Amino acid sequence: MRLPDETIEEIRASTDIVDLVGGFVSLRKAGKSWKGLCPFHTEKTPSFHVTPDRGIFHCFGCGRGGNVFAFLMEHEGLSFLEAVRFLADRAGIALPRPGADGARGEDAAREATLRATRAALDWFRKGLADRARGTAAREYLARRGIGADAIESFAIGYALPEWDALLKHLARIGFAPEVLERAGLVVRRERGGGFYDRFRDRIIFPIQGPTGQPIAFGGRILGDGEPKYLNSPETPIFRKGRGLFGLYPNRGAIRDAGHAVLVEGYTDLIGLHAVGVRNTVAPLGTAFTEEQARLLSNHTRLVVLLYDADDAGRAAALRTVPSLLAAGIAVRVGSLPEGADPDDYARREGGDAARRVIEGAPGWIPAVIEATSREGREAQARRVVELLARVSDALALGILLGEASVALGLSEDLIRRETEARRLQSPDAPARAIVVDGGPARRARGADGAHRAERALLALCLREPLLVPLVAQHVGPDDFADAGHRKLAHALLGSSTEEPLTELHALLSRFREEPSIQGLVTEALGASEEEERKEIKARDYVLRILKRRLERNWERTREELRRAQERKDVEAERRLMKDLEVQKQASQELVQSIRIPA
Ligand SMILES: [Zn+2]
Repeated sequence: MRLPDETIEEIRASTDIVDLVGGFVSLRKAGKSWKGLCPFHTEKTPSFHVTPDRGIFHCFGCGRGGNVFAFLMEHEGLSFLEAVRFLADRAGIALPRPGADGARGEDAAREATLRATRAALDWFRKGLADRARGTAAREYLARRGIGADAIESFAIGYALPEWDALLKHLARIGFAPEVLERAGLVVRRERGGGFYDRFRDRIIFPIQGPTGQPIAFGGRILGDGEPKYLNSPETPIFRKGRGLFGLYPNRGAIRDAGHAVLVEGYTDLIGLHAVGVRNTVAPLGTAFTEEQARLLSNHTRLVVLLYDADDAGRAAALRTVPSLLAAGIAVRVGSLPEGADPDDYARREGGDAARRVIEGAPGWIPAVIEATSREGREAQARRVVELLARVSDALALGILLGEASVALGLSEDLIRRETEARRLQSPDAPARAIVVDGGPARRARGADGAHRAERALLALCLREPLLVPLVAQHVGPDDFADAGHRKLAHALLGSSTEEPLTELHALLSRFREEPSIQGLVTEALGASEEEERKEIKARDYVLRILKRRLERNWERTREELRRAQERKDVEAERRLMKDLEVQKQASQELVQSIRIPA
């Protein structure tokens, strides 16, 4: 659906950006802005700024920036519309119901899927609460120690055994079967047409999205049928390996504890919950992915792995380590008595014992060495080095190098050199390697003067919108060599068909799906405060860009002149000489006409 720009702006203006961001990042006041450790990259000294006057944030370390919508999109993985809706609810601003008007395809599909998924969860929860029909399911849960508290916290439900109980119910309240199919709730019959429920006679565990709304389901069969576990397919709102079970209900506990416990399945998670260990998350039915690691890194910088104490469990646990390290998360590996799984262990030994295992968990290096013990020392060392190469934080790496040296019996220096070498080989490493404390990721790029001049000119237009008409007289978007700069210039300076767009938040909205351009905008504005006392040298910036254009023209005309002279074309020669004269004069006039308003 399409919301009017004024409504979006009203929602933005009603949201206190310091309050919103402060809910996720701890911020300290610093002059007119607030500073904190960037939630988007690993750092030890704060380069993440929130400027309430302008309603923006910007990180000078990794270059991310934008307004409240961009923050939620980036931090919580919401779509623009979901971010708008979330903040509208928060600010108590009523939005028109979706679906009525000419909704744009993708947004409309997401909206319809969200609503169907929410309605399905309500139905599943009613199924579990049903006095007669939910009895077997409640008894099953009770036998596993899952009581009313966990049922409420995790919004657990039950899918009735009929082939079409959900289908019929949702059809009654207005959902078309095609919508339900897209939401992964029903399956099309192979023969004879029609649809049937995907989840039948199953305990339903929902994955909740960043704002608590259900986005997918995992279902465990109540009886003996197959498959034992069944999950939602990919839908417009759910990409496999994106959500984490328990993250939404447990995120407060994760923040309080300062770490998350990663377990393999939702029964482990609920088992630990039952004994009071609540800072846990689980991937739902998939191998742990890089995206899940990044999602988790928004909430914590330390993860304790607690998987089944058998070969399969240990191998699965160690497979998560590369993604976690690459996301800037420190990893410890908890170990249970041989053969135990976290669910059984928690029930048998209780919360204190489980907590001791978690709190006493050693780093990942011994676990990796242990797991590769049959392969010999060289293989062990290589495996450790491979993983060390994924650690980008200099301090964390320093500590790990010390541990690795002791554990492997090799000199720290040797391991460090091998790690560096490994880092250079691996294709995804360089980008991460640059994101070390305080080092602007983009320092290496755009070192040349022309690139800097383009940025400076754009920054000038953003800070001094009054200058835009003047700049636009002399410079067009095509004068910008960098594609991102060109796009921004196009919006800022306008064109024959479009008015210049100089209002900050309208501009950010225009680039809602292009974070790097939003970062350019907020960088320019964020920097202005730090550079307040410096004089803005508009003239220089404009001149440098114009100079390039004039030089190119000059060269071209000179070349044509040379060719005309070669073929002794007197007439062309005279015309081109005149051209050059005009160009020269034009450049002088341009230089004189550029003046900064007082
Ligand atoms: Zn950052």
